[in-house]
Amino acid sequence: MKWKPILRTMKPYTPGRSLEDVKHTYGLQEVNKLASNENPYGSSPKVAEYLRSKAAQFEIYPDVYTAGLRGKLAEFHQVESNEILFGNGSDEIVTIISRALLQPGTNTVMASITFPQYAHNAKIEGAEIREVAMLENGDHDLEGFLKVADEETAVIWICNPNNPTGNLLSSTAVKKFLDRAPKTALIVLDEAYFEFVTDSSQEDAMKWIHDYDNLIILRTFSKAYGLASFRIGYGVTNADVVSELNKVRNPFNNSSLALAVAEVALEDQEFLQHCVTHNEEERKRYADYAKQHSLAIYPSATNFVLIAVPGDADEACEVLLQNGYIVRSGNLLGVPGFVRVTIGTHEQNTGLFKAFDQLLTN
Ligand code: PMP
Repeated sequence: MKWKPILRTMKPYTPGRSLEDVKHTYGLQEVNKLASNENPYGSSPKVAEYLRSKAAQFEIYPDVYTAGLRGKLAEFHQVESNEILFGNGSDEIVTIISRALLQPGTNTVMASITFPQYAHNAKIEGAEIREVAMLENGDHDLEGFLKVADEETAVIWICNPNNPTGNLLSSTAVKKFLDRAPKTALIVLDEAYFEFVTDSSQEDAMKWIHDYDNLIILRTFSKAYGLASFRIGYGVTNADVVSELNKVRNPFNNSSLALAVAEVALEDQEFLQHCVTHNEEERKRYADYAKQHSLAIYPSATNFVLIAVPGDADEACEVLLQNGYIVRSGNLLGVPGFVRVTIGTHEQNTGLFKAFDQLLTN
């Protein structure tokens, strides 16, 4: 068959180990999955209530225009309803953007250590990937981005806060970049973890979309809203960009049930705040733990931390697995010597620290 030659050099997405698999392999009763930055507090109780009380009309295709959620989000972000694009997770928006803008002869700029799906999609589309090494503190080197971007740059990816480091670029730094970036490139500000940011000086970038025609902001219901299994992500940008991207979007890419549930979750901002507050308290415990044991840790603004381990990261993951904790090895993420741990509940984190202690005494 006539596969694109690049596929020979690529691998499908490697998921973390599943709870059932780890339970079975290690003979454990209880396993904690702290590997995919999901919400350890689940989702709004109103979602469960909704699912008990109402059934979607399963035989009817979903509303292509996603009017209900669109209207609520437009109001929530103070934008027009035609300035929103929905994806089957923000993963799909990354794919849609790549499919619409990247092709041989174009290039795309991103940090060297960032969300891998940007490079993955760019490869499939045949675009040149220009990776810019991160700064020592883990920040994107935005000056470096400007140096490598040129008139053939079609997409620039800023992951803020960044996965897997958790680093947050200030609003001022991002705005300064937007002022100087080529207007011919689409700037993607992927804010999958935005809701976890508690630094009050951080501005809401949504209001910038009217100042910069080439800016799209990505958000998701998978993280702070705790709805990863429903696959709802969205992009906010000007109506012309939405209209072009819509040409490559599959119709009916969100299920009716997922759209309805996201609407319910959006309305429960109290639950969201509860998760964000607990996450912030627990995030501090990780910083303290790292300090106490003189372990390097990146300054996370998210619901995960990238923390150093003594020795090989895969081996450290194995020890943590034996203790019932699934985390992500830095070897897979381009940061050997580190593991990425999703910040769990208080109890989960206490258990994780106890298991981590074993790595330090071995
Ligand atoms: N962007 C970033 C930075 C992420 O970490 C993730 C999830 N790992 C996504 C996008 C995609 O999330 P989803 O497709 O669940 O919205």
